[in-house]
Amino acid sequence: MKNRKKQQRLSIGLLTSVLVLIVALIGIFAVKMVESRQNANRVDLTPTATPAPAASSKPAADTSSKPAEDVSSAKVPTPVPTETPASSSAVAETETPTPVPTEPPADVKIICIDPGHETTQITDPEPMAPGSQEMKPGVTSGTEGVASGKTEYQVNLEVSLLLRDLLESRGYQVVMTRTVNDVRLSNIDRAKIATEANADLFIRIHCNGLENPDINGVLCYGPTEANPYLSQEVIAGSRRLCQLLRDNQSAVTGQKALDNLFEDNMTGINWATMPVSIVEMGFMTNAQEDLFMASAEGQQAIATGLANSF
Ligand SMILES: [Zn+2]
Repeated sequence: MKNRKKQQRLSIGLLTSVLVLIVALIGIFAVKMVESRQNANRVDLTPTATPAPAASSKPAADTSSKPAEDVSSAKVPTPVPTETPASSSAVAETETPTPVPTEPPADVKIICIDPGHETTQITDPEPMAPGSQEMKPGVTSGTEGVASGKTEYQVNLEVSLLLRDLLESRGYQVVMTRTVNDVRLSNIDRAKIATEANADLFIRIHCNGLENPDINGVLCYGPTEANPYLSQEVIAGSRRLCQLLRDNQSAVTGQKALDNLFEDNMTGINWATMPVSIVEMGFMTNAQEDLFMASAEGQQAIATGLANSF
C-alpha cells in the first residue's frame, strides 16, 4: 500500500509538472503574439519594414478633381501616374488592423504637422521639385463641405490642432506649419518649415473632394518607389507612414480604408527631406463624411486614429 501511495503521489507530481510546463509555454506564446502585433502597428522607418500597399492600387480619386492640395486647380488634367489606373469608379476596401497603443518609437521625436491650404490661394508658381522645370501654383484653394459649408482649410486646421495635442501628450515634439488660417505659405515653404525644424516625420492633413458624391473613405498620398527627388530611405518611410496613418484612422473612425495613391507630382512631397504623407481624411463632397469631419466627435476620432500610428 505504501508503495502504491508513493507511486500515486509520484505520478500526481509528474502530472502537475507537465501541466505547469504547458501553461508556461502558452504564456510565452501569448506574449510573443502581443509583441509581434505591437511591432506591426509601430512606426518603423527602415526600408525593409512592412511593404507599402501594392503598386497596382486602384484610385479612389479622379485626378481631374481636387484630391490633394498640390494638384493644380487648372483645367489641364493632371498626368495620370503610372501606378494609377484611369478608372475612378473602383474604390477598394482594404484590411484594417486594430490599433495597439504603443510607446513612442525611439527614432521619432519631432513631428511636423501641416494643415493643408489657407484662407487665400497662392497662384504664384513654384518648382514642383528641387531642380524641376515644372511649375505649380504655390497653394491651391482646396475643397469645401457640401453639407457643413466648412472650408477644407478650416477642417484641416481643427483636426491638426487636436492631433498636435494628442502627440504632445504622448511625448512628441510637434512643429506646426500654421496655427491660424490667414497665412501665406506655399507648399515649398511648408516643406522647408519641416526641414528647418529637423522633423523626423512630415504629416500633411487634407480633405478630399470629387464630383461623385457617393465616394467616401480615407486614403493617403505618398511618393512612388521611383520618386527621383527623394532618397530610398525617405521613400520607404513615406510609404510605410501612408499605410499606418490610413489604417489607424480607419480602425478608430470606421471609415472605409481606400487604396493609398502614390504620385511624384506633389510639391510638398518632393521638397520634403524626411518621410512624408498627405492624409486625405475623407470626402467633403460626401454629405455624411463631410458632417462627420466637421463634427467635434468626428475630429476627435480622426485625430485619435492618426495619433495611434505612433
Ligand atoms: Zn487639400
